[in-house]
Amino acid sequence: MAGVTLRGVRKSFGRIEVIHGVDLEVADGEFVAFVGPSGCGKSTLLRLIAGLEEPSAGDLSIGGQRVNERPPAARGIAMVFQSYALYPHMTAYDNMAFGLTLARTDKGTIAERVRAAARLLQIEDLLDRKPRDLSGGQRQRVAIGRAIVREPQVFLFDEPLSNLDAGLRVQMRLEIAKLKADLRATMIYVTHDQVEAMTLADRIVVLNAGRVEQAGTPLELYHRPRNRFVAGFIGSPA
Ligand code: ADP
Ligand code: MG
Repeated sequence: MAGVTLRGVRKSFGRIEVIHGVDLEVADGEFVAFVGPSGCGKSTLLRLIAGLEEPSAGDLSIGGQRVNERPPAARGIAMVFQSYALYPHMTAYDNMAFGLTLARTDKGTIAERVRAAARLLQIEDLLDRKPRDLSGGQRQRVAIGRAIVREPQVFLFDEPLSNLDAGLRVQMRLEIAKLKADLRATMIYVTHDQVEAMTLADRIVVLNAGRVEQAGTPLELYHRPRNRFVAGFIGSPA
């Protein structure tokens, strides 16, 4: 396991800066939710941590090691996307195994890890199916399973439940809570769902236009929002 540290992280696309110097410390094993309006930079921050984008300035470390120049595969992270991003021509099993196959993990270990993740996510009966024969919730479980089998130090979730209908979202929220308890890995979880953030997170980071507006425990933010903006997202309706 490992924590994640951002120091003065900035990101520009062309001449437009969208992340304006973010300082943030996520502790080992902590579950942190990023919330904020559309376009405030939540996905960009995750992609910077994952190594899918390069910071324009600042330092990023995972487990105390500076990772600015490290490729995504060498960062010990796994990311789960809103869109699932499964390979349509592969079975659920092969989708989950694919990253490990690329990393030349031996077949026995792959089978063990896929079975264990499938058990945890209750998709053991679905491993032979292709994505088109799975429901939205089942697809998202496969996508989460694919992250779990890599045994990452850090999980990054980008609005993993927002494509699901309300009932399933509640069920999957409980599943995520179970994962958090079972895996005890560091997790950074982007959501626009206040209930998800309040119920899952040890700490919530409220982002506004590429800056951290406030960070604190759900109760701190709820009872002592720094300003109207934070209150609008998670504060009590004062
Ligand atoms: P969020 O996930 O909070 O909705 P994003 O991180 O996706 O926000 O985007 C933050 C800002 O960066 C937005 O203004 C968006 O248009 C811009 N942006 C994101 N990715 C790119 C890109 N590849 N090229 C140009 N602008 C981008
Ligand atoms: Mg986003």
